[in-house]
Amino acid sequence: MATLYCPCGQAHELWGEFWWTEGRYQWVFFDYEKTSETYAEQVENCPACGRRLERKNLLSGLSHEQGLPSTGARPVL
Ligand SMILES: [Zn+2]
Repeated sequence: MATLYCPCGQAHELWGEFWWTEGRYQWVFFDYEKTSETYAEQVENCPACGRRLERKNLLSGLSHEQGLPSTGARPVL
């Protein structure tokens, strides 16, 4: 849904989606940095600085029309 960046300034690109999981809507984040070891994997902490990712703290990048390949879980809309 949106590319996001951690405010640490590392410009490590992240991908955020708003999913219905565990009984509520919440943001899930993926590593969107192609050179990263954890590229396309779900991450809860910034791969660059290790801080916990929270949507309100992240900086928005440009929106993309396509998401990452399916990892199994799907948004319920
Ligand atoms: Zn960071």
